[in-house]
Amino acid sequence: MHITDDLTSLKGVGDKLAEKLAKLGLASVQDLLFHLPLRYQDKTRVIPIADLLFGQDALIEGEIISQHMTKTRNSSLLVKIADANGQILSCRFFHFHYRQAQQFKRGQMLRAYGEVRNGPTGLEMVHPSYQLFNPQNPPPLETTLTPVYPTTEGLGQASLLKLIDQALECLKENPLAEILPDELLNDLKLPGINQALLTLHKPQASDDLYLIKGFQHPSQQRLIVEELLSSQLALQLMRQQEKAHGAPSFATSPSSEKLLQQLPFELTSAQQRVLNEISDDLSMPHPMQRLVQGDVGSGKTVIAALAALYAADNGHQVVVMAPTEILAEQHLNAFLEWLEPLNIKVAWLNGRMKAAERRYQMALIESGEAQVVIGTHALFQDAVVFNQLGLVIIDEQHRFGVHQRLALQQKGKKFDDNGEEIHPHQLVMTATPIPRTLAMTAYGDLDLSIIDELPPGRKPIETAVINNEKRFEIMQHLYAKCKQGVQAYWVCPLIEESELLHAQAAEVTATQFSDNWPDLRIGLVHGRLKGEEKALVMNAFKNHQLDLLVATTVIEVGVNVPNASLMIIENAERLGLAQLHQLRGRVGRGDLQSHCVLLYQAPLSETGKARLNIMRDSNDGFVIAEEDLKIRGPGEILGTRQTGGLQFRIADLKRDAKWIPTVQKWAQILSQSNRYNNPLQARWIGHRMDYQHA
Ligand code: ADP
Ligand code: MG
Repeated sequence: MHITDDLTSLKGVGDKLAEKLAKLGLASVQDLLFHLPLRYQDKTRVIPIADLLFGQDALIEGEIISQHMTKTRNSSLLVKIADANGQILSCRFFHFHYRQAQQFKRGQMLRAYGEVRNGPTGLEMVHPSYQLFNPQNPPPLETTLTPVYPTTEGLGQASLLKLIDQALECLKENPLAEILPDELLNDLKLPGINQALLTLHKPQASDDLYLIKGFQHPSQQRLIVEELLSSQLALQLMRQQEKAHGAPSFATSPSSEKLLQQLPFELTSAQQRVLNEISDDLSMPHPMQRLVQGDVGSGKTVIAALAALYAADNGHQVVVMAPTEILAEQHLNAFLEWLEPLNIKVAWLNGRMKAAERRYQMALIESGEAQVVIGTHALFQDAVVFNQLGLVIIDEQHRFGVHQRLALQQKGKKFDDNGEEIHPHQLVMTATPIPRTLAMTAYGDLDLSIIDELPPGRKPIETAVINNEKRFEIMQHLYAKCKQGVQAYWVCPLIEESELLHAQAAEVTATQFSDNWPDLRIGLVHGRLKGEEKALVMNAFKNHQLDLLVATTVIEVGVNVPNASLMIIENAERLGLAQLHQLRGRVGRGDLQSHCVLLYQAPLSETGKARLNIMRDSNDGFVIAEEDLKIRGPGEILGTRQTGGLQFRIADLKRDAKWIPTVQKWAQILSQSNRYNNPLQARWIGHRMDYQHA
């Protein structure tokens, strides 16, 4: 047997099992070796019940002092044990056989492994794994940690372990060649690959089990570094490959000069700097790949419009994609206002257009009559044919996946007379400030521009954190403010995973307002409204025909109503900080002093309190993002859709952030040679990077 053999060469692996393993992305013996434990169970020692922490996985033992069935709706079996110090814990079973219930006799000794919880009867373990034993003859404790692997339905840990044992035997006979250079391993004091794999899969009693549990053991760090390195190299390669293609070069743009003169404001120096970075890129005969990060309200839209003019002036089409209909329409309005006076024709597409209208717009796009095309996901459809696409602009990038970005880019791909591949330039924008280390890891294939300045005259939003008990007083206050000409948002975020309930919550609030204050002009937007209905309400709010907009989080992204200066967010404790920051960014866009009230449902946990205090104390998206990263993992910050390229097997950007600068340095060095990338990709990324060839 060899490392590169199919898994079917292992004992006990037939077609059925091979299929299950394939679901885990495992095809060869090597894949199995790199299928790494998620965590470890420590059954090497029994923990006194008095020392247990909530949420801890632990091995405990004691004498059964009672067993009984609860008579609640979900009847359960409750087995109470007392340890040597007389401390008590209950094991709870919801599913059990009569026979199983019979074995738990008073006076019997029980050893259990599970997660410690704070249950209705005090300390509990729900469905622990357990073992009954005779006190004269206690079973031996494990001498080392038990790895827990990611798995799939119908494939238990025990079967997986057996297969991994076989793979390890194979490894011992045919050790892997070292991919990483000695200098790196020596420099970072990390072990070779074979030792690292053996320690991870089979920690020895003599290993530092404490380090292993925390993924801080040198063997683990070695694999973490290797995985991060392979993802960095892959991103760098993607970027080099893209840069190797051709792109139309847009050197000058008279229209953008004109637009700058006609704007009622001057660009901030940050906008100016970013625009220069973009126009430099656009003048090159290779595709731009640039990410613009700028906090909410920093003025990204006008930068997008100016960039679009570079392409339009040079005879190329531009596509601008936004994640929601509301946002796309808002862009449409801004672009029409800015570009039509310059005789630039704008087309647009959304998912809800009537067939005739869609055909008309598509004809404008295909013929090239439209120089700028704005839309939502509808732009991906195969039927949409662009004409001389030269620039792809994607707003609020975090709402889209890497795949979607690449798919749109593919639509602009063509070949020049020499057979060279020509790609459109790409500009992606995001208002979710991502901490720099994370951005470099997540967007390693993009150049980064940051608009780190807000237009002048903006006053920082004042934020208060208030108990929901005061809800009615807040409503009264809001009414009084609206009577003084203020416009306000009231946001009812999604709590249940249901659009319907979500919409109802907003409806109930709107009704409560209109019952109490019939003269308040109230609008309601939620995800169940049709696009046109939503747009109608939004426009009325924009034109100050409404005082109050009650909304679900559909207003999150990009909506711009400068006169709105009061925002209430209910159940703020349930939302991520980045999302709260986005929502709050709907106010503070004009000259008025803006206020934001974060209503929370008591009691708040310590972290809950800390999170809301961060919102109260800071208006800076980057500060908030850094704090958010400390509290939650990067996956949640980036959003699930975007983490496609970021699903690591062993690395964890939060836990392992300290390695990122080192890894980046080594990626630079190793990218000079093509010796490293291919074997690393084959090992770590394999099929998951297919999208780069999409
Ligand atoms: P975001 O970066 O959140 O997308 P927008 O592009 O929507 O922000 O800009 C917010 C508002 O600020 C818009 O009304 C826009 O016209 C205005 N704006 C943009 N740049 C400036 C500037 N330099 N000075 C004043 N107002 C500006
Ligand atoms: Mg925007």
